[in-house]
Amino acid sequence: MKVELLDYTDKPEKTVAMAARNDYSDDWVADVGYEAAMEPIDFDQGDYEWVEDNLAEPSWDDARTELEAKKKSLLEQLLDREHYGVFEHPSASFAINDVSRSLMAQLTRHRHMSFDVQSQRYVDFEDKDIVVPETLRDSDEHLSRDAGLVDLDEDVRQEYRQRYDELMDDLTEFYGDAVEDGVPKEDARFALPIGSPVNIVASGNLRSLMHVMNIRGKANAQWEVRELADEMNDELHEVAPITANYFEENAPFKLGL
Ligand SMILES: Cc1cc2nc3c(=O)[nH]c(=O)nc-3n(C[C@H](O)[C@H](O)[C@H](O)COP(=O)(O)OP(=O)(O)OC[C@H]3O[C@@H](n4cnc5c(N)ncnc54)[C@H](O)[C@@H]3O)c2cc1C
Repeated sequence: MKVELLDYTDKPEKTVAMAARNDYSDDWVADVGYEAAMEPIDFDQGDYEWVEDNLAEPSWDDARTELEAKKKSLLEQLLDREHYGVFEHPSASFAINDVSRSLMAQLTRHRHMSFDVQSQRYVDFEDKDIVVPETLRDSDEHLSRDAGLVDLDEDVRQEYRQRYDELMDDLTEFYGDAVEDGVPKEDARFALPIGSPVNIVASGNLRSLMHVMNIRGKANAQWEVRELADEMNDELHEVAPITANYFEENAPFKLGL
């Protein structure tokens, strides 16, 4: 599995902060002075004016720290107060690579997210690697909802791994032969297993993303979708660090109804 942030709302946490300020303030959020007070200064672009106006002895580090602290405090208060609506304004899109159709079925149940999935009617799947379940992949213990802590005997694991690989080879060979002999991919795909790999683009706003990470990151979710939830949170750290940190420290928490 690979997960990458494909695109996101520019300065997502600023959008959250500005939406909240809209709710609680007399001022219009589009007012430039107010915006500057909530936004970390982009020193590379030379936003020096605010610093000169607001600090007795201008120091880039002081200014950055002060503005970041303001924003962090505001966002954490919003989350503490369960004011989640403001987190619906910014959104992010993830490119998800080589996950199973089983994961796809779980992820696409989330109705506040948007998805595009690789088509089995257009793409040829003969040479794609089938996802190997965690239990058969390595001998490390891992959690499973129905079996608890899975710690399979190594001989048993190896036996089933071998049988799994043979079975997958047979299925993909059947699929390849059928396509070659004129069976349309849309019908030949019925022989492909649920472990068939798929690439997905998934988009959602920060609230819906936190909801997905919340319930798909918990111990009772499956190992693969748990891994996805972790990867998404890691990616979010890059662009929405305050939210991602808060989430990591407090999850799981209920985000609505
Ligand atoms: C561990 C685990 C096991 C699962 N097992 C199964 C299973 O065996 N079979 C199965 O079919 N599914 C299963 N699911 C899927 C689960 O039932 C949900 O469909 C899925 O997790 C989507 O999450 P959600 O219900 O929070 O809805 P989302 O679509 O993510 O919506 C987010 C929130 O919006 C609100 N919401 C959205 N739509 C509505 C609505 N129409 N009415 C009222 N409120 C709404 C709810 O508060 C909801 O929590 C499982 C999920 C987990 C995490």
